[in-house]
Amino acid sequence: MIAFATGRVKPRLCAGRLCAGEYNGVFRKSVQRDRLRQCHAKPITVRDAHDLIRRMDRHYKTSTRVRFGNRRGAGGFDSKRRPYISLPTQSGPDRSGRGLRLGLVLHEYAHVLQCVRQNVTNHGAAFVNVFDELLCLFGGEFQPLQPRLFDEG
Ligand SMILES: [Zn+2]
Repeated sequence: MIAFATGRVKPRLCAGRLCAGEYNGVFRKSVQRDRLRQCHAKPITVRDAHDLIRRMDRHYKTSTRVRFGNRRGAGGFDSKRRPYISLPTQSGPDRSGRGLRLGLVLHEYAHVLQCVRQNVTNHGAAFVNVFDELLCLFGGEFQPLQPRLFDEG
């Protein structure tokens, strides 16, 4: 049994996060919480992220510009109102839940799709509906387009 010196320890999970790598507000609104957790725990390679974005672009008949380098990830419209996504190259999740992982790719792509559909994006209910749709359609067993020659483990 652990005794705390002060009586002020709040019941928190993962340094305040209900789901590692996801905003609490998004997690609470989601109806795909199990899958959300699984996807944020699933590392993805740069190449597989590219493949997944191409597949989602085909499905949604859009064309997303993909950049790498943003440590946290970003998605939506660029300054010329073109769909774009920026992702970290470092595979994750790291100890703080960051890095390139399936859940981040789907989260940022949900921003792209919400921009395409509604010309605006945020972390509200409409965003979470789009995100949940992506989690359903693309967050299952992820299959790369090409068979692997090497285990990148
Ligand atoms: Zn976001």
